Amino acid sequence: MKYQTKFLNESVVVASDVYRRAAYGRNHPLAIPRVETALDIAGDLGWLTGRVHSSPIAGCDLLTRFHVPDWVAALAEADRSGVVPAAVCARHGLGTMENPLFSGVFERASTSVGGSFAAARLALDGRVAFHPAGGTHHGRPDRASGFCYFNDPVFAILGFLDAGLNRVAYVDLDAHHGDGVEDAFAADPRVLTLSIHEAGRWPGTGALDDRREGRARNLPVPRGIVDDEWDLLIDEAVAPVLERFEPEAIVVTCGADGLAGDPLSSMMLSNGALWRAVVAAISIAPRAVVLGGGGYNPWTLARCWAGLWGVLAGFDLPERLPDASQARLAALDCDLVDEDDRDPAWFTTLVDEPRRGPIREEIRRIAAATRKP
Ligand SMILES: [Zn+2]
Repeated sequence: MKYQTKFLNESVVVASDVYRRAAYGRNHPLAIPRVETALDIAGDLGWLTGRVHSSPIAGCDLLTRFHVPDWVAALAEADRSGVVPAAVCARHGLGTMENPLFSGVFERASTSVGGSFAAARLALDGRVAFHPAGGTHHGRPDRASGFCYFNDPVFAILGFLDAGLNRVAYVDLDAHHGDGVEDAFAADPRVLTLSIHEAGRWPGTGALDDRREGRARNLPVPRGIVDDEWDLLIDEAVAPVLERFEPEAIVVTCGADGLAGDPLSSMMLSNGALWRAVVAAISIAPRAVVLGGGGYNPWTLARCWAGLWGVLAGFDLPERLPDASQARLAALDCDLVDEDDRDPAWFTTLVDEPRRGPIREEIRRIAAATRKP
């Protein structure tokens, strides 16, 4: 199986070893191996040679283009001291169950910002830059939110705008609404944001009729969405809206939490559905940054993002994974996914079986409403 993308130059990956360090403490949905496993599997397949760019760390000058200096300073100081004063917790949402303080959090969050900004610069001359550690779409100017400390997708968009581009599209495929990015650019006519997410999930925003005066589209989908329904939304709603906007660049957040088997959503997609959506979106612009995002099942996530890179870089996807990759997947564990629910195919293959099913009337209604100018 091979997917077609049409860019002038070879795709690149932006990566850093900072993501190999333990993070989020214990009992947090993100305290599982994620980006590192995906890239290790890509490496096992020989897909990374000569393609990896090291992620720079964003400095304060860059961070404060979106985040308020108080919040940047408070996160740096909390990381240094190991303490979150009560006032910082109240004001900036740090030191909570969802956004705990852990050693190295400032470097990690700043690296994801630096990586997404660098990815946009790399994409400028007509290529796709894949930054799987990006996608912290809930981050706010002045506070942590929804497992996110900073908001790196905002900086990928800023990277494109800095280059003088006047039409940048943002497409959010994560199971949760891309609220932080939508709010960041709701008043900027140069940016169109579009988010598909499961209705009724946190943060509860992103209603179908919420268009931010035409600068946003939201597709809240019903529980249990399958590939056929997803493909219809991409073909009949997402693609036409993007084509009309004629983006000069596009940023895609490809969270893996919409996949079947993820513990934090009830979406039922195969990884092929996400790959098709990314390819459909980026094919509409001559430059693209593709980010990671959520994803709380370490097996489906690693296979999805490893395969996504294979797709973006134009490699043939194998039927069976190499022994080294199978060993990596066998070594993973996750409290949120019961052993009985672990599909044997997650340990040996890369490509999911398609998730077929009838198309509900509600899906057609969402597509029609989204398409409407
Ligand atoms: Zn999510």
